[in-house]
Formats: sequence, structure tokens, C-alpha cells
Amino acid sequence: MRLEQELDGKDLASIGRELYRFAADLYPICRSITGNGIRQTLAMVTQRIPLQTFEVPSGTSVFDWTVPKEWNIRDAYIRIPGGKRVVDFQQSNLHVLNYSTPVHATIPLAELKSHLFSLPDHPDWIPYRTSYYQPNWGFCLSHHQLQALEDRDYEVCIDSTLEDGHLTYGECYLPGRSSDEVLISCHACHPSLANDNLSGLAVATFLAHLLSDRELRYSYRFLFIPGTIGAITWLSRNRESAERIRHGLVLTGIGDKGGFHYKKSRRGDTDIDRAAAHVLKHCGEASEVLDFSPYGYDERQYCSPGFNLAVGCLMRSVWGSFPEYHTSADNLDFIQPMQLARSLRVCAGIADVLENNQRYRNLSPYCEPQLGKRNLYRSTGGESIGTEISARLWVLNFSDGENSLLDIAEHSGLPFTTISNAAESLCQGGLLSAIADSGPSEAAPDSSSHREGSASCRTAQAAAKLVGPEN
Ligand SMILES: [Zn+2]
Repeated sequence: MRLEQELDGKDLASIGRELYRFAADLYPICRSITGNGIRQTLAMVTQRIPLQTFEVPSGTSVFDWTVPKEWNIRDAYIRIPGGKRVVDFQQSNLHVLNYSTPVHATIPLAELKSHLFSLPDHPDWIPYRTSYYQPNWGFCLSHHQLQALEDRDYEVCIDSTLEDGHLTYGECYLPGRSSDEVLISCHACHPSLANDNLSGLAVATFLAHLLSDRELRYSYRFLFIPGTIGAITWLSRNRESAERIRHGLVLTGIGDKGGFHYKKSRRGDTDIDRAAAHVLKHCGEASEVLDFSPYGYDERQYCSPGFNLAVGCLMRSVWGSFPEYHTSADNLDFIQPMQLARSLRVCAGIADVLENNQRYRNLSPYCEPQLGKRNLYRSTGGESIGTEISARLWVLNFSDGENSLLDIAEHSGLPFTTISNAAESLCQGGLLSAIADSGPSEAAPDSSSHREGSASCRTAQAAAKLVGPEN
């Protein structure tokens, strides 16, 4: 399987437009950590990939947390009594503090103000605010809207319900030859926010579609879950499946124009960390590898003590480091079709590494074998002759049973795909054979003996300027 090469043979711009269209279709839905918005979202994902949805009752204990009541909303506004709406949920679902308790009252501006949130530094933008675990109601509005409010009574209405119901999440499971799993997780709980939410959701859906109906080495499990509580709920209900996760990626914020950031797993030297760093190094875009920190997205749960899974997080601009984060400016203009497509290509490249990385043995040691007489001293046309021959020599020299193809790719500085193609040619030429026990059913497929060394590191915490983590 060579997903990245397959994508390169297609029109990436048109794939980007499809990804963007899917994000745009999902954009208007008012999502939250529970309720009909996430159900509607999962129903749209189900039209593209085989997705099983799960409903977990409110009140269920999940580790140290409890599944909250289900929230649904129909309408909300602030208006001059008997007059026009001055803040209208129908114009933007960000106008309501997400998870607001219902309210219908007429109150003076002075009292209303303690329930209003705006961004004085960006007076045209509406902030995105939530209050999942602290019962409260409120409105988010642009600072210009706030300043325009007159000192008078206003009618406020939030037509929401917060009742016993369910937490909903979706799983797409693609079986492979091994029951060892690759986890791809994205959050699906933000309302009309494009990069932080929909970019990851769209790319995860398309990656699952690319992988489906293929002969896979690993089994793949895609999770579409509400942030934090969804990951905690899933882990609490799936301890056995979690033990089978060998590699994992949280996908989020991968549609903006920024370069890539990969945040390493807590272990920091696992195969997914090395695969992601390697693919990013060769992807042709700016990229940076960040050390793990207990801030950020659901990698916090997957990498918590007890689980400590090999799960990293792939982003473009790091959450909290760009002003549009958690505001109405994270809209459909903030994400770009080609950026989504290139993010999908990087994910495909990482999957290629996981699927094809293994150890081989050189069947003709004691000096170099003569490549010419085996027709291996010429190009197959894919790359320059120099690169192809060089890759074959690297693979032959380092295939001593110890080094994996990823090790060799790192040593040589050549892309994994080039090394993997060289191994295939050498196998066909009878010079190389795969070591049977180097596959994923091994108890510990993570090699810790080689660390990615060239990419610069800094912590995601520093990059995010210490804004609060996603919850
Ligand atoms: Zn967020």
C-alpha cells in the first residue's frame, strides 16, 4: 500500500475542494459535547465511511468524570422588549455560551453584562465560550455589538434544554491482518469553527475512506468524539481495545495556512513520533516537532499515566497561538482547500510508514552484490537514477536484521517511500528478504533505539502561550 504515491497521482486540488466542501457542509451545525448537533455531524460522516455511533447515558461514571446531561438548543436572542433582536443565535451559533441553561427574562443592561462575553482586541469577532460543567447562561457577541447596547432593559431568551440524555460518539473500525491498532482521533464538539474541529474531522473522514476496502497490515480505529469527555468516556469503556493501540494520532487544526506542528507522544520516541517527524521533514512544507505537554487536545487522555499510549497530535498552527483561535474568525475563510489536501497527504504518508516499516535481511552479505547483472543498476523511472541506486545501497548495507526501513530512511536522509520502494526492488531481485517476526503483532513494535534528531523541538505549552487547554 502506497497511499501517498496514490494521492500524488491524483488531482490534489480537486481532493482539497472536496474536503473543503465537506467542512463547509458541516459548518452551520451547532455542535456541543452532547446533543443533536454531534448526532447530525456523525450522520453526515456516516454517508462517507462506515461509522458506528454509540450513546452513553448521562450520569455514567467514566474514570473520575461523569457523563453530563445532554444539551440541545433551538433558539436564543437578546432583544429590545417587543422590538428587534440585537443578538441572534440564528445569525451565528457562537452567540450563545455553549451549554447555556435555559433562560427567559427581561433584565437591565447592568445585570445582563455579567452574562456577556466579547473580545475588545478584536471588536468584530465573536468569541467561542463554553460552560459544560458549571451551570450558567450567557451570550457571546462582538465588542462593537456590546458597545452599541443602550442602558435599558433587554429581553433575553435561551431556548435550550439540559436534561438526562446521552453522550454520542462515532467509531469507524477498519480491520487489518493484525488486531494491533492504529488510532485516529478527532473532536467533533465545536459549533461553527472551521479549523479547530472541522479540518480534523474532514481529513479523518477522507483518510478512513482512503484506507477502507484495502488490504491493511494494522487495524484502524477512527474516533469522532467530543473533546476531553469523549476521549475519557471511550477509554473508560474500551480498556481492552486501548491495549491494542500501537500507534495513534489526534488530528486537529490542519486546514489553516500555517506550517505543520507535530506534538510527540508522552513517551516521545515511539514509531508514530518518528514516522510523523520523518514524513513532515520530507513533505515540502515548514514543520516543527514539539515535545509532549499535558496541554492541548485528547492526546492528554491517551497519554495519561496508566494508558501512556503512543499517540501524538498533528496540527498546523498550534491552538491558542493564533488570534482567530476560538473565535468567529476561525471560519471557512480561515481554512483552505489545498492545506486540507496537503494535510491528508501527510496523514497518508504516515500511514504508509506504519504499514510498510519492517526489518529485512540482506541475502548477499560479504561485499556489495553486483546490481547490474540483476538489472538493479538502472532506474525504474520513478526517481533519479542516483537516488534509486543510493537507496538500494543503503537498504542492502543496513538490512542486517537490526534496522527497520524507517531506521534506514533516517540514516540515509532519503524519504521513507524511496527506501521502501528500494526494498521492494531488492526483494524482487532476490537480494533481500523480509524478517517475518518484525510485523505489528510483536508485543512492542516501538523501537526506542533511534531518535529523530534533526527537527527542532520546543514545547507545545510555550507555543500556545499558556492559554487554557481544550475542555
Ligand atoms: Zn477548541
